Amino acid sequence: MAELPDIPNAGAGAAGGEAANLPHARLEGIAERYGTPCFVYDAAAMRHAAGRLRAAFPEGAALFYPVKANPNPAIVGLFAALGFGAEVASRGELALAMATGIPAKRIVWSGPAKTDDDLGAAVAARIFALQVESPGEIQRLAAIARQVGRPAAAVLRLDLPQDAGARRGDWAGASSFGMDEATAAAILGVRDRLAPVEIIGFHNHPTSGSLNAADFVRRFATLIEAVGRLSQGFAPRFVNFGGGFGAPFYADDPALDLDPIAAFLRGPEVQAVVGDAPPPQLGFEMGRYVTGPAGRYLARVVAVKRTAGRRFAALDGGIHHLMVVSGTLRFLRRPVAVSGPPADESKSEPTELTGPLCAPTDRLASAVPLSKTLAPGGLIVFSGCGAYGKQASPLNFLGHDWPPEILVDGDHERLIARRVRFDEVLALQSPDHPAAAGPGRVPP
Ligand SMILES: *Cc1c(COP(=O)(O)O)cnc(C)c1O
Repeated sequence: MAELPDIPNAGAGAAGGEAANLPHARLEGIAERYGTPCFVYDAAAMRHAAGRLRAAFPEGAALFYPVKANPNPAIVGLFAALGFGAEVASRGELALAMATGIPAKRIVWSGPAKTDDDLGAAVAARIFALQVESPGEIQRLAAIARQVGRPAAAVLRLDLPQDAGARRGDWAGASSFGMDEATAAAILGVRDRLAPVEIIGFHNHPTSGSLNAADFVRRFATLIEAVGRLSQGFAPRFVNFGGGFGAPFYADDPALDLDPIAAFLRGPEVQAVVGDAPPPQLGFEMGRYVTGPAGRYLARVVAVKRTAGRRFAALDGGIHHLMVVSGTLRFLRRPVAVSGPPADESKSEPTELTGPLCAPTDRLASAVPLSKTLAPGGLIVFSGCGAYGKQASPLNFLGHDWPPEILVDGDHERLIARRVRFDEVLALQSPDHPAAAGPGRVPP
């Protein structure tokens, strides 16, 4: 594996926004009670972010919580209680969303490889709509709906042309997601033959983690223009703008300014297309924005050493819980927002933060200014880790425990996922594992 480049970590704890709710001393107490490494989420921060979205989107817009951003049932349930629907992409996510109290009529399902079993499950559950990604998919959906004699709603997911501002990793232009405009038009042309499937509108998920409001205005405009062209002789009832709003994660990240987006969504370009009576409902699927800033990953220093002129602090947590800091699932690896035990500014020393894995990629942050007296037991806090954290990481790589998750709500705190040992994970899958037969046995 190649050595990672140096990533100087300028500011400590810059990201994370509403950090005031969870000062270091409170996190110390949580770390003592539940052990490290662990994830801590702040319910108030999630509610605040949801409120900002509600204020930014036009009245009556439907908000769908994308389950993949953080599938902890307590967190999905928190958004259910706030009136969110769900965006799901598997039968597992569908079952989870429904188990947390999100009614099927508020669930949309995306994904480029939905199997017949997936489509059948969606039809049986009577979800709000399948976001269809190809002509073949809508034909299979129609066949399945006919077979079971149930109606089903479909939304055509559009794969819009990539513009100059697009970044690597964007969901745009010749991707596996959705269909080009000509294909969507062709499907609309034969929609009568798809009964009992009804096409109700359009979807586009433009990007992920962008902090640039102009990006969204441009992409939303691209979608609205395409919807306008596709609405000749067809009146959409639903237009879904997808997700992608970023939240501060790296130390130098700004907050996303929602004002220009809010203004655009109420402006003449959108009104010209969706201003008819009755107007189509607008949908949004923001995940990272509502969960990212609310989460912290806590790990303790196990060993401190100096080698080749640098100080290293090896932590009990690593990229097996927080793969996102290694750059995977992100566009660029940049300094993350991290803080340690309070230090006198003049007495800090740049420190490499590494994890327990026997892999050079297990470096969580570089050149972080941390107290010169940092010692084993010191608590390190990574901010902005509420989205694409634990469940988007290779949890079993090298056989460590799955970290517990704790939800803080005001003065209350609650364990919302317990620590799971590696032998439990193995025993669950394999009846031959010695842990399935009892502890303390060496396999023959
Ligand atoms: C992942 C995903 C989302 C959520 O993206 P965020 O960047 O977390 O807002 C929304 N819609 C679809 C279709 C997705 O695949």
